[in-house]
Amino acid sequence: MKAADMPEGPTVRRFYSIVSPFVSQYVVKVGGSTKQISLHDLKGKSFNSCQVHGKNLYLEFTISDTKAVGNASSGIDNAKEYTETREIQSSVIQATSKEQSGSSQDVGSAESHMSRWLRFHFGLYGSVRSNEFARAKQANKRGDWRDPTPRLILNFEAGGFLVFYNCRMAWCSSPASEPSCDVLSPEFDTERAVRALSSSRPVCFSLMDQKCFSGVGNIIKNEILFLAQIHPLSLGSALPIEKLHSLVHHALHFTSAWLSSKMKNEGLHYHIYMKEYCDKGHKVIKEKLGPDYGLKRLTWFCPNCQPQVKCYQTLPVSIL
Ligand SMILES: [Zn+2]
Repeated sequence: MKAADMPEGPTVRRFYSIVSPFVSQYVVKVGGSTKQISLHDLKGKSFNSCQVHGKNLYLEFTISDTKAVGNASSGIDNAKEYTETREIQSSVIQATSKEQSGSSQDVGSAESHMSRWLRFHFGLYGSVRSNEFARAKQANKRGDWRDPTPRLILNFEAGGFLVFYNCRMAWCSSPASEPSCDVLSPEFDTERAVRALSSSRPVCFSLMDQKCFSGVGNIIKNEILFLAQIHPLSLGSALPIEKLHSLVHHALHFTSAWLSSKMKNEGLHYHIYMKEYCDKGHKVIKEKLGPDYGLKRLTWFCPNCQPQVKCYQTLPVSIL
């Protein structure tokens, strides 16, 4: 079954590996439906570097030097001109390849001293693709097979292109980085994570707090609570410290295993996420759980394998 959750740390790291081969190239043409940034701002810019922090992807572009390749762009450079048909997308790409061959000689003289970062946060089914567009996987309600609409298309000087789907983007001066909280960073601080979990709130809320567990999303939350055999509404303060260490251990192990399967284009076996029965054949419970004034997220858990501890939070939850 297709996962219906937002891209989490391992997936965004995979996106990083897709965009990084384009580093050091100029953007010769820009397209896409986004209204969140001015597409014109990216035209002629050099893609300097990229970083990933938690669930955010950052691309660095030079601010200065728009002359070198600015004249090369004449096609889709704003949302109005963008067309959804694949035929025209293909012809634009071909045109871009031709244009760049005539303009790339000018690029070498570029000198830039300032840069800024474009931050991407991905929504449901958000993705990045290189040198291909996403195809419709199913028909819509009217029976049309419409391909997903790219939010941003970056065509590069060497002829390749990147396409970004279902993402929010915004300019920022530097990436917000806190590696000690990033579950996929070698600098992740395990002791700090255990302290964050040990507060008197349900562990399933703490795990989704990006200030403490950057990169963890709903899939990871569900899976590691099952693997650590912890009821999602257990208060961290009521759990033995060994249990919290075990949960952090599973968080690190699960995310790195997921990342390596992503890099090999392999699927992930879920133990509990979107399952009807757990690995041992028990009936799984599905509830929407979240803080009183926060986002409620679908949570799957096995009442047998993840028993309630004596002290757990009782909440008005909506049972689906
Ligand atoms: Zn079970």
